[in-house]
Amino acid sequence: MSNSTTLAGGCACRSIRYKLKASPLIVHACHCRDCQRVTGSAFVINVWIERKFVETGPVAPKSHMLKGGSGKDHEVFFCERCGTYLWSQYHIAPGDALFVRAGTLDNPEAVKPDVHIFTRSKLPWLELPEAVPTFKSIYEIEKVWSAESKERLRRNRSEGA
Ligand SMILES: [Zn+2]
Ligand SMILES: [Zn+2]
Repeated sequence: MSNSTTLAGGCACRSIRYKLKASPLIVHACHCRDCQRVTGSAFVINVWIERKFVETGPVAPKSHMLKGGSGKDHEVFFCERCGTYLWSQYHIAPGDALFVRAGTLDNPEAVKPDVHIFTRSKLPWLELPEAVPTFKSIYEIEKVWSAESKERLRRNRSEGA
């Protein structure tokens, strides 16, 4: 993927706007119960990207803490005015990264899931494309990510150390 097309998005009331200054590390469709509850939908599409590549406009989102399924903190960022949930930070995930909700992109068709995770709680009527890897829960980064994304993650972790 190239960085030449910058992805941009925002909340429903347009007080929060953001740009993604790099391509996603990976795109998850997550079918866990937490994501179903937080989105009120069948699954969430998350763009996993280093926090430093998420550039927000003058208005920054508010956040609150939830307990993730792992027991570790899950910080959810949302617009204070309209309540749109824009991204999450999972404290269990390696590196300083955000999970940006792809439905808030101006062009959500610009990304598509590389993997489907937590399919053990996938809604039974939903059929997934056979070509896309699926995992009953999570997966091992080493086995799934591209070499380029693994290198970016390595750099991101060493910057935070
Ligand atoms: Zn808003
Ligand atoms: Zn989830």
